[in-house]
Amino acid sequence: MTQSIFWFRQDLRLRDNPGLIEAAKQGSVLPIYILDDKHQMGEASRWWLHHSLQELSKSLNEKLVLFKGDPLTILRKLIASEGIGAVYWNRCYEPWKIKRDQKIKEALKKEGIEVQSFKASLLWEPWEIHKSYKVFTPFYQKGCLALPPPRDPLLKPSQIALLQTTQGETLELLPKKNWGDKLKNEWKIGEEAAHHRLATFLQEGLPYYKGGRDFPACPYVSRLSPHLHFGEISPYTLWDALKKERDEENVSHFQKELGWREFSYSLLYTFPDLPNKNFQAKFDRFPWKKDPQKLKKWQKGQTGIPFVDAAMRELWQTGYMHNRARMVVASFLVKNLLIHWHEGAAWFWDCLVDADLANNSASWQWVAGCGADAAPYFRIFNPVTQGEKFDPDGAYIHQYVPELKHLHPPHLFSPWTASKQVLEKAGVELGKNYPYPIVDLKESRKEALKAFKSQSGL
Ligand SMILES: Cc1cc2nc3c(=O)[nH]c(=O)nc-3n(C[C@H](O)[C@H](O)[C@H](O)COP(=O)(O)OP(=O)(O)OC[C@H]3O[C@@H](n4cnc5c(N)ncnc54)[C@H](O)[C@@H]3O)c2cc1C
Repeated sequence: MTQSIFWFRQDLRLRDNPGLIEAAKQGSVLPIYILDDKHQMGEASRWWLHHSLQELSKSLNEKLVLFKGDPLTILRKLIASEGIGAVYWNRCYEPWKIKRDQKIKEALKKEGIEVQSFKASLLWEPWEIHKSYKVFTPFYQKGCLALPPPRDPLLKPSQIALLQTTQGETLELLPKKNWGDKLKNEWKIGEEAAHHRLATFLQEGLPYYKGGRDFPACPYVSRLSPHLHFGEISPYTLWDALKKERDEENVSHFQKELGWREFSYSLLYTFPDLPNKNFQAKFDRFPWKKDPQKLKKWQKGQTGIPFVDAAMRELWQTGYMHNRARMVVASFLVKNLLIHWHEGAAWFWDCLVDADLANNSASWQWVAGCGADAAPYFRIFNPVTQGEKFDPDGAYIHQYVPELKHLHPPHLFSPWTASKQVLEKAGVELGKNYPYPIVDLKESRKEALKAFKSQSGL
């Protein structure tokens, strides 16, 4: 029997955890988590992680041991002090983690330690796809779906002999200000909560998913993204649950969205600079504007465009934003304000509980038009018509912009076009209790098209 370490990373679960199953088979297991802050997580992610680790530890009889710092140093120390013969983990795919893990694997193997890593967080690892696709549909259809289907999820180990150590640290993940408090009411965190969320979604969201997933006030999306990011539930579990559903149209649409997640990871793998560099180099000369004041107003949901403000406040209040709203606010930032997508991605990184290097980088580049298979530069979402179409009765705006609660469609989507009487009746005083728009939508659209066209090759 070997005493081993199981190193939890983005797989904070006991079910469908191949690395943990292997460790449990070999003998006693020391379960650890290491906070490696080389590339810092955002505040909302740290808040989530704090609670997720607490839940995981509960399911391990409080035997999860936490560390922070350089993983190789920590692993070596534990191997020596606890008589460890093997280390197991499930693979992560951020470029810096791939490099780090390769180094750790090589070093420990040289020192006579058995090291094994497993596939657990992606359905198709980037190197399994035969070609490096730049367009989603062929990637998904010819790259992913042509391969053998994802395996069935694994049961949690029936028994794990857990080792104990006197070592360990506290991670201090909670924000200094009580900012996390407001998120508490929004989320149930951990493996059990993730399974519960999935069950609720299958019943209440999936039947309406394809037609309903674009309406931010409707409960038809899964909100599983933070659970998936932290690995509280595996994509295999989702895929398997979907297989059992009969509603083919909605099932295949939801599977396709999981496919977009795989696509983002594949892009990040083949283009490790995705978080920093334009996928299409011709955008490198784009004349972005520096405008800290407008950026701040965008961040705070004070742009004077109700649909944008609702979305930015949803993010701030809940750590989440609906996908349709993410596309609209991102387009507004990069196209109407001409502010670099890096600024938007950084704000999302800090505020999203599902902040994910692959999905965030790929999606921002997609909206900005500089990504792989990106939205063309001339597709500039109009946040007024987006609101009219996807929040027709204004429920989303009313939820997050209460100062407009007595203003109704159609004026709600563009209060600056409403008459004095309408505004007065609704108790709205532009410039006093709700801002004038920080930018003229028509003019800024024209300016953006000019700027994009002025770049040679665009
Ligand atoms: C500017 C921008 C930034 C984004 N940043 C992130 C991010 O940091 N983290 C993140 O997980 N997603 C990000 N997304 C993608 C998408 O908005 C979220 O995955 C989705 O809104 C999560 O909500 P859900 O779980 O209810 O989605 P559902 O519609 O229920 O989808 C289920 C799962 O499929 C995956 N998925 C769905 N849509 C996409 C997509 N367009 N791209 C990739 N995967 C997708 C997610 O893992 C999601 O949890 C971003 C999108 C945009 C436009």
